[in-house]
Amino acid sequence: MRLPGNNLDSISPAARAVLDRGAALFVGGEAIPSATGAEIPVYDPSSARQISVLADGGAEDVDQAVAAAAAAFPRWRATAPAERERLLWRWAALIEQNADLLAEIETIDVGMPLWMSRRMEMGATLGAIRYMAGWPTKIAGQTVDVGVPIPGSQFVGYTVREPVGVVAAIIPWNVPMMMAAWKIAPAVAAGCTIVVKPSEVAGLSVLVLADLARQAGFPDGVINVVTGKGSVVGQALVRHKDVAKVTFTGSTTTGVAIATAAAASAKKVTLELGGKSPQILFADADLNSAIDGICNGIFLHSGQICVAGSRLYVERPALDEVVEKLRAWADSRVVGPGLVPDTQIGPVVSDTQKAKILGYLSGAGQEGADIVTADPDVDGDGYYLRPTVVANATPSMQVVREEVFGPVLTVAAFDDADEAVALANDTDYGLSACVWTSNLATAHRIIPQIRSGKVAVNTDPLPYPALPEGGRRASGYGRDLGQEGLDGFLETKSVLIRTA
Ligand code: NAD
Repeated sequence: MRLPGNNLDSISPAARAVLDRGAALFVGGEAIPSATGAEIPVYDPSSARQISVLADGGAEDVDQAVAAAAAAFPRWRATAPAERERLLWRWAALIEQNADLLAEIETIDVGMPLWMSRRMEMGATLGAIRYMAGWPTKIAGQTVDVGVPIPGSQFVGYTVREPVGVVAAIIPWNVPMMMAAWKIAPAVAAGCTIVVKPSEVAGLSVLVLADLARQAGFPDGVINVVTGKGSVVGQALVRHKDVAKVTFTGSTTTGVAIATAAAASAKKVTLELGGKSPQILFADADLNSAIDGICNGIFLHSGQICVAGSRLYVERPALDEVVEKLRAWADSRVVGPGLVPDTQIGPVVSDTQKAKILGYLSGAGQEGADIVTADPDVDGDGYYLRPTVVANATPSMQVVREEVFGPVLTVAAFDDADEAVALANDTDYGLSACVWTSNLATAHRIIPQIRSGKVAVNTDPLPYPALPEGGRRASGYGRDLGQEGLDGFLETKSVLIRTA
């Protein structure tokens, strides 16, 4: 049966209004057209139909947005911390009031099931904003006992924490609403102003967020959004002399190019990049709950999550049983359009992405791996793929080494904990890892040995706003969320005063 796409005749009038409102940037507190009026088509991944447009911004639009952010910065950094907190709380309240609309837009734009955008992405969006809302009144430096060896002299020394200035946030398409909130909330909490560049593939919800920030009362110019191509808008932001910091989430290739370009003007840079995260399953784990967690950790949102646990290593005695349980879990999923309530797995975001994922799977077959699940390629109007388990995966296979960013789990066996750690670390990336065991001593022994920014034990690596998220090595540097996520938008100034 050919799978249909979302029925957009039945969406809410508010969602229809967002899709139909035409291409616009959000600069200086208002929706404005881009300088050239050029547009980027927006597609529904469930039907491959064009559903809306984004403005195809240019360097001139970036100049205007950065100028608006720079003009707003002196007043915003001087705004009382309690007022910055109040506005963040008010923004979160308005987002919650509009949660159904935002979730509907996100599902239509990105493809994920509605329950996921409504509960999970919305939860992570609100959680981050409310967590960061608590910080403005708690930003503090240190006093330092200064003992400069000049006879008879006295000094007072202390540090202050200051906002870095105008921030450029460049974000990917997979969870645009959450990604935008993870960048905007700490930046404005710290006293920075910001220009956000959403992905050209999906970014409608980011413009809705910006408008809700205006309604919440953020001064004009504090939060700006310029849509457009990475090679144009992204590059112009990275090179702009008045941008003090770039916070980027996306692929490793783009991240490295951005860091290289930003180095020319010595900008601060934070990179949240790709991953190839391992999951280590010991035979003593509660297998049923582990299978559920492992599958959610890779197949949720069709594997289009940076921390997706895409490489599973199973203690050999449990291997056959685990592969069979994974197969049963994956083959029982309902794949379909995101707005249909029964859908458990939506389409992937684009035809390019679908073709790339199928390419990895045919390559895996040619390299000797076994696809144990049903035919991954689903006939449909949109970019549907079934969750796929690849057994007998060996370390040199491309599907094991490279980030697929799709619903593909590779499985291999290990014989002892040392081998499991070696396999887990056999990657250029270092974003996240999961360990499944009923023996906490085993977990504690392994945690320090894994080279990643995060280790989850007996759970998939859910984001929690107080726990920093980020990677090592090819997965980047710097952190989103947590106190470190705020720190990335602050500079330390040392003050030394001679009093005698
Ligand atoms: P991408 O790197 O292609 O694009 C990300 C953003 O960068 C987009 O807005 C794009 O327009 C922009 N861009 C592209 N080229 C640019 C350039 N030369 N200069 C400036 N900006 C440029 O990534 P994507 O395909 O949108 O997203 C998928 C990737 O994002 C995956 O690799 C995934 O792992 C990663 N990701 C990482 C995290 C994390 O927290 N580590 C979270 C989500 C996604």
